[in-house]
Amino acid sequence: MTRAVDKSGDWKNRLYNLGFELFNSGKRFEAHEEWEAIWLDEPKGHPNRLFLQGLIQVAAAFHRVDTNFLRAAYRLFRSSRRKLIPYSPGYKGVNVASLIPLLETWIDRLGSLNRGDAPSHADYFPMALGGRGWNEATREPDASPEGLSTFKAFEEYSSDREVRSVCPKCGDALAVNGRRRAPAEDVESVWRVACPRGCVERAFAGAGA
Ligand SMILES: [Zn+2]
Repeated sequence: MTRAVDKSGDWKNRLYNLGFELFNSGKRFEAHEEWEAIWLDEPKGHPNRLFLQGLIQVAAAFHRVDTNFLRAAYRLFRSSRRKLIPYSPGYKGVNVASLIPLLETWIDRLGSLNRGDAPSHADYFPMALGGRGWNEATREPDASPEGLSTFKAFEEYSSDREVRSVCPKCGDALAVNGRRRAPAEDVESVWRVACPRGCVERAFAGAGA
């Protein structure tokens, strides 16, 4: 799926802010398209990519709720939470620290449903995303060699790919909670990225952990 994007002027800021307007007016699918257009243009390995993936998955999760695919919504909420955790307390105008507990409430509610349950939308609380400002100064994740390599490993794990990053000190393969690949069903609330020799270790934790 491709669409023509007007890349004149400050187009990323324009699309980014439009995404929040669309999201907050209930147009979740359209919001995800705006953010995806920015994501496609960000260089591989840049922290903006995982952040946008997280936001896109929040929009996609709500789109699944709206269309009553609740198991898919549940998985997307879990996955979005994991992707956004490294950006707490805030990133590009989004208050991530307050967003994570809202995502966790959705995860708890959807997780307690049985297969085939069809609760009405009235059971769910509405959620607005308070964010705008692509150019807002943001605290980038830790840019030290240890910070960059552990973030990269977490990003690889969070994107359901094999962890390929190595320890910046000894060159051994890094692992997340002792694994090189995320399990199909995400049941973790703390992700400890570490070198098997103990040279580096970083923990990424959810607000409820
Ligand atoms: Zn090492």
